[in-house]
Amino acid sequence: MPLSGILKEIDLSARGRMRVWVVTALGTLACIAIALAFDSYAFDTGEFQLSDTWFNNIVIPLILAPPIFYYLLSKLRELAIAHDELVNIASTDSLTSCLNRRAFTALVEGYLERVANRPEGAEGALLIVDIDHFKKINDTFGHDRGDDALRAIAGAIRTSVREIDLVGRLGGEEFGVFLPGLSVASTTGVAERIRLAIRDTIFAPGGRRHKLSASIGGATFNHAASYAELYNTADKLLYAAKRNGRNRIEIRQPPPADPPPRQRMLH
Ligand code: GH3
Ligand code: MG
Ligand code: MG
Repeated sequence: MPLSGILKEIDLSARGRMRVWVVTALGTLACIAIALAFDSYAFDTGEFQLSDTWFNNIVIPLILAPPIFYYLLSKLRELAIAHDELVNIASTDSLTSCLNRRAFTALVEGYLERVANRPEGAEGALLIVDIDHFKKINDTFGHDRGDDALRAIAGAIRTSVREIDLVGRLGGEEFGVFLPGLSVASTTGVAERIRLAIRDTIFAPGGRRHKLSASIGGATFNHAASYAELYNTADKLLYAAKRNGRNRIEIRQPPPADPPPRQRMLH
């Protein structure tokens, strides 16, 4: 493996074991350097002469420093792993493993704030996916089978989008999908792919297939937009999709940019 490949494999993050070893080695070297420097410098005369007291300055730090650094860094690593796991639990919906509503909203808001001042603008879309007649599934097959359907639907949505897209469970049988950087023209295609993936999801409680479907409302943007604005538009369009017969998508295109000034006709 080339050196750049090996360097890429080395995980120096707070979770990485390699960081424990690297910082232990660097810390030990720093201890030796400090001990040598102190012992070599005459504070009264200001002279510097390299000390030859090797036992005190090298052997003792070599014996004491590594276990202390190793212990402290291993504890820090355990804390970092526990912290990441807690953040993961706090931001994940336990039934579907999607983001929960709070984490989804915070991530989308954070993204929209970051891109708001970009001179080149930003585009993307927010979709709201609501399962059709879901109450009937619970009433017919029971709440546990309803949960199975929600898990399967979440999987279908996730496999229909890119890795960078965000999928959150906004509540009950309603999911949010945020598509950062996706062109307005491509949004309809992605929404349609999600609709078809849900329609094609096999849900067969007791061996008999029950057809699933979802209605999708979506708001696209190609300039600074707020989460509330996008959510309200997508929510209104979701209800339009319900009114218009369900199992369909309704997407709002952003208003067209101002047309360029008309060129003067040359005679
Ligand atoms: P519509 O097509 O208009 O969306 O109808 P709907 O039946 O899907 O919508 P409604 O809001 O009437 O019902 C949503 C149902 O979702 C009611 C509720 O019991 C069910 N639900 C909400 N959360 C869960 C859950 O975590 N698990 C299960 N199994 N059902 C849930
Ligand atoms: Mg519904
Ligand atoms: Mg609903």
